[in-house]
Amino acid sequence: MKNILVLGGSFAGMTAAIEIKQHLKDMAQVTVIDKRDEFIFNPSLIWVPFGLRDKKDISFKLDPVFTKKNITFKQAIIASIDLKYQTVTTDDNQLFPYDYLVIATGAKLNYASIPGLDPADGFCQSIFTYDDAVRAGDEFDKFVANKGGEVVIGAVQGASCFGAAYEFLFNMVYQLKKHKLDKVSPVTFVTAEPYLAHLGLGGFGMATQMCNFMFKQSHIKLECDSEFKKITQNKIELTDGRVIPFKYAMLTPGYLGVDPVRALTDITDSNGFVKINDYYQANGYTNVFACGVAISLPASQPTKVPCAVPKTGYLSEEMAKVVAHNVVASVKGEKLTAKNPGEIDAKCIMDAGNNGIIMTADHFLEPRAHAWLIPGPEAHFAKLAFEKYFLTTHKMGIV
Ligand SMILES: Cc1cc2nc3c(=O)[nH]c(=O)nc-3n(C[C@H](O)[C@H](O)[C@H](O)COP(=O)(O)OP(=O)(O)OC[C@H]3O[C@@H](n4cnc5c(N)ncnc54)[C@H](O)[C@@H]3O)c2cc1C
Repeated sequence: MKNILVLGGSFAGMTAAIEIKQHLKDMAQVTVIDKRDEFIFNPSLIWVPFGLRDKKDISFKLDPVFTKKNITFKQAIIASIDLKYQTVTTDDNQLFPYDYLVIATGAKLNYASIPGLDPADGFCQSIFTYDDAVRAGDEFDKFVANKGGEVVIGAVQGASCFGAAYEFLFNMVYQLKKHKLDKVSPVTFVTAEPYLAHLGLGGFGMATQMCNFMFKQSHIKLECDSEFKKITQNKIELTDGRVIPFKYAMLTPGYLGVDPVRALTDITDSNGFVKINDYYQANGYTNVFACGVAISLPASQPTKVPCAVPKTGYLSEEMAKVVAHNVVASVKGEKLTAKNPGEIDAKCIMDAGNNGIIMTADHFLEPRAHAWLIPGPEAHFAKLAFEKYFLTTHKMGIV
């Protein structure tokens, strides 16, 4: 029986673990390690600050899901990974040997890169963890009570999750109207992107034109090529001298690989993400795989201010399926499948409060044969329906 260790139990890790166990059954002991005991559906974090969701609406416990699938779940912080001796150590000093390792640990939020960016002791908000989103909601309530003011939403240099910034922006505009604060609350989008809806992807179909229309319609001011120098009380300073005042700001941080993965310098890039081949094997290790946000996915066209490539939930799960297939094939001595992440199809919904855009493409990255965008209120309802579908199925262990 092979020992298969999956690090991280979220979108990528859960998918990989369940698929591997389903195919290998008694041929493998599958163990998942995650520091959290619950799954959080990140795409719904955009609604938490506006009181539209709380934790119970967008999360479920991991242990029952894995137990049902005969997968061992260990809640602990992964302290170190030893690729030579094929072991992982957790913070309670437990040692986990493995035959095959799947790294699906996502990212660490790089708040330290810009003074004032960390919502815990800085001056702006973040929605990138549940607790941060709750804090962003408390600050939004104060902002409303104080009768509004300048709003800045954006994404700093090195950010990749641009979609969440745009969704929060359009949801904010919708909420300002609902609170009758839109006339006294000018909104500015400040981004590292070279142009509107570049998204870290060099654009996506007609996204730029559509967002341009939405920006004009809602009088949103745009500041591109923004390299953030520091954030102080009510003021953002960019390195080129631009100063942008705010009463409420939410900024998307850059990502780094998580500490125990970043420490593996022979298989990671300068930001600590795992460099993989088309089989999702880490450089030089045929028994170490990585998927989801934890992988290195370099930008094909560098931008003036660094913008990283987003690794979405759908993409993370599709990568995890290829990884699962390849782990199963390795155990059974069968042929591995190659699938470059950029060639995986794209499926995404950008919510805008009461409308949005459904986005699909044959390839996640260029070159693409098609990239279709369907704007309208049905996108909002599609996102609501997808949230329920995703949480219901994953809670049952269906990935
Ligand atoms: C606000 C927001 C909105 C988003 N909206 C969308 C959207 O609309 N559509 C979409 O497709 N994607 C969206 N995404 C992106 C999506 O959430 C990610 O693509 C997805 O979470 C990636 O999954 P993952 O499993 O690779 O990483 P993660 O979900 O980050 O999971 C990593 C796991 O590893 C665990 N871990 C990390 N380090 C350690 C350690 N040292 N010890 C133990 N455990 C550890 C973590 O606890 C976590 O459970 C959004 C993300 C955010 C933050």
